Amino acid sequence: MSGVNEIRSAFLDYFAKNGHDVVPSSPLVPRNDPTLMFTNAGMVPFKNVFTGLEKRDYVRATSSQKCVRAGGKHNDLDNVGYTARHHTFFEMLGNFSFGDYFKEHAIELAWNLITKEYGLPAEKLLVTVYSEDDEAFKIWKKLTGFADEKIIRIPTSDNFWAMGDTGPCGPCSEIFYDHGEHIWGGPPGSPDEDGDRFIEIWNLVFMQYEQLADERVNLPRPSIDTGMGLERFAAIMQGVHNNYEIDLFKALIANSEHLTGVEAQGKAQASHRVIADHFRSMAFLIADGVLPSNEGRGYVLRRIMRRAMRHANLLGANEPIIYKMLPTLVREMGQAFPELHRAEKLIEETVQLEEKRFIKTLERGLGLLDDATGSLGAGDQLDGETAFKLYDTYGFPLDLTQDALRNREIAVDTEGFNTAMERQRAEARAAWSGSGDAATDTIWFSIKEKAGATEFLGYETEKAEGIV
Ligand code: ATP
Ligand code: MG
Ligand code: MG
Ligand code: MG
Repeated sequence: MSGVNEIRSAFLDYFAKNGHDVVPSSPLVPRNDPTLMFTNAGMVPFKNVFTGLEKRDYVRATSSQKCVRAGGKHNDLDNVGYTARHHTFFEMLGNFSFGDYFKEHAIELAWNLITKEYGLPAEKLLVTVYSEDDEAFKIWKKLTGFADEKIIRIPTSDNFWAMGDTGPCGPCSEIFYDHGEHIWGGPPGSPDEDGDRFIEIWNLVFMQYEQLADERVNLPRPSIDTGMGLERFAAIMQGVHNNYEIDLFKALIANSEHLTGVEAQGKAQASHRVIADHFRSMAFLIADGVLPSNEGRGYVLRRIMRRAMRHANLLGANEPIIYKMLPTLVREMGQAFPELHRAEKLIEETVQLEEKRFIKTLERGLGLLDDATGSLGAGDQLDGETAFKLYDTYGFPLDLTQDALRNREIAVDTEGFNTAMERQRAEARAAWSGSGDAATDTIWFSIKEKAGATEFLGYETEKAEGIV
């Protein structure tokens, strides 16, 4: 029982057996929630159930929710390829109680699943609680018999969850796995906790308060929300440290090795990981109706795509290849997520078209970047003008430029970049003699700003090349 698909099923079966309704994953674009870029946690589809706005015909639920953390409050984009545990797209397994069972049973359910069903050794585990949550501390103590040092009290917001400025909130308790002394990093709460030795696998949130405008009151019927990263858990079950070494990623990376003809070793390893990770994100986002564009969700998707494409280029690819990874992804994940099957054609065409579009300017942009940074070294900064030119003329999202310079420890002057962007907008406005109709002018400008110069250039180039 250690493949990703079996681990997912075992989780859902266990909670079904314990009285939970198995609820399918919601789409990555949250329904009726314009404040949120993408679904980024298992609880998102249940928000209104937790606040009591919506009733469902169950009080216990379990799901494996598709999540993307590549923008907004949770943004793990810059971690991908560099940490062992972060993806832009991942699955969050969870169990939820809507005013039904609470803290004690939630902890018992989690502990029994991990140690009995999945059979992980207790000595490899440790937990955190919110510093003021004596109740959670005592429950863990009684259940596990852990020494006090293995039930770490954390005073920060890492262990206190809130839905927003007001609304349900409460302490959390997180379960960590110790991958061993040979890996750098300290336990949670220690100065070197950012290392990858102790990996957070499961967050249990105890929603027991409601934050009002001026006071915090007890919820009459407290609730439970939990989230466990499937890929992190699979790494443990498969005896590997890094998420990118689990079965699913092995298959994707083998595919990108085959397509580029470059082995995932040394410097090339991070690129393969980025490509595999970003490909999952793009495929699932497109399947859920997001298309690359120059604003909002579509721009986040475009950034993810272009970043993957630069890494493919680093591996020597100078024609579209990323779209060719789809059959592997469908084979690995299509059974759990039939939307991948349904959207196969759309995903393939969208990715291939974006690859064709970007490849034309990518090489020239990278040439410009090389020229501009040839004399720079670690600690230096690329000027904002050049970063803006890369964005405006070559279609390089700012974070792509930053990522490209990261290994050489060169930063980008983002203020200068923003100033250049503002100046261009102002110039465009000034140059526009206007139709004399204020309303039309405003609309024209908002369209042009949304579409951006790159879009027009890309379109013209494609027409010339006969793509469209
Ligand atoms: P971390 O501190 O490692 O970034 P987190 O505290 O941000 O994780 P939570 O918001 O508590 O994560 O999400 C619940 C669980 O989802 C985590 O315990 C982890 O197993 C998983 N998870 C969170 N972010 C990612 C990610 N970017 N990639 C893969 N799994 C993730
Ligand atoms: Mg995080
Ligand atoms: Mg954390
Ligand atoms: Mg957490």
